[in-house]
Amino acid sequence: MNIQIIKKNDISLRLLIEDTNAAFMNTLRRIVTSEVPSMAIDDVVIIENSSTLQDDFLAHRVGLVPLKTDLDTYNLPEDCTCKSEFGCNLCRVSLALEAETEDHTITVYSSHFKSENPVVVPVSDRIPIAKLAPSQKIRLEAYARLGKGKDHARWQPVSMCAYKYLPIVIVNTKLCDLCGDCIKICPKNILTKAGDKIEIRNVLDCTLCQDCIDACKKNPKALEVSWNENSFIFEIESTGVLTPERILKGALSILEGKLKEFLDQLVVK
Ligand SMILES: [Zn+2]
Repeated sequence: MNIQIIKKNDISLRLLIEDTNAAFMNTLRRIVTSEVPSMAIDDVVIIENSSTLQDDFLAHRVGLVPLKTDLDTYNLPEDCTCKSEFGCNLCRVSLALEAETEDHTITVYSSHFKSENPVVVPVSDRIPIAKLAPSQKIRLEAYARLGKGKDHARWQPVSMCAYKYLPIVIVNTKLCDLCGDCIKICPKNILTKAGDKIEIRNVLDCTLCQDCIDACKKNPKALEVSWNENSFIFEIESTGVLTPERILKGALSILEGKLKEFLDQLVVK
C-alpha cells in the first residue's frame, strides 16, 4: 500500500491510497464513523429553565455540542474500573452552564459552559444554544462521557468520512472537435481548452459523474471516464473533537484489536 497526503489541516485530511481495495477502505470508513470514541454530553440536569425552549429540547441541543476529546486520559464507561453508573473522574466530565439576562435579549453560546477539565471544552465558543429574553434564566449541569457513533450521532468524531476511486479521464484527440460542451458541463471544472486540445487539470476532483460523456456529441465519444479499482481518495473531516490523524490512528488500532481478538480465538480453538 502506498499513501500520499494530498491535503492536511487541523480538521481535514485527504489521502491518495494506492494498492488496496474497496473492502479495506470501507472497513476504515465504518470504523471512523461508528467506533472511534469521542466526548459528548450524555446526561443533563436542568436546575432552572425559564427560556422558551423546553427542557428536553435544550438537553438535545446541549448533547450535540462537539467537545474536545482527550482519548488518552478518559475511559469508555463500559471499560472503566469504577463500574459505576454515575461514572468517576476517569470516565466522566461535568460542565456547568449558567446564563441569565435582566433587561435585554441575549444569545447563550457554548462559551457559557464551565468545564471541570479545561481540556474538555466545546470545540467552538460560538455555537448558539438558546436565546434569552429579559428576566429569563438557564441553569444546568451536564455530564459528558466517551461514546461511539454507532450508539448516537453525537459521538461521531467526523462530519464527513468518504472515499472514491481514483478517476482516470482520457480525451481522444483524434475524435475531439473542441466544441467545448464537456468543459461547460463539468461541475468540478477539471477540463480546460489549451491550444488545440482539451487538457485535464485536478483530475482528483472528478466525481465520476460522467456528465462530460453525456455532453459529447461525437459517436463514439471523444472522452473516456474510468477509475482505478485499486486506488482511492480517502477524505476525513473532523468535527474538531480530535485531529484527523488521531481519528485515523484510533480507527486502525480498533481494527488491529478486532483482528487480534479473531486470531486469538482461532488459535485456541
Ligand atoms: Zn469510571
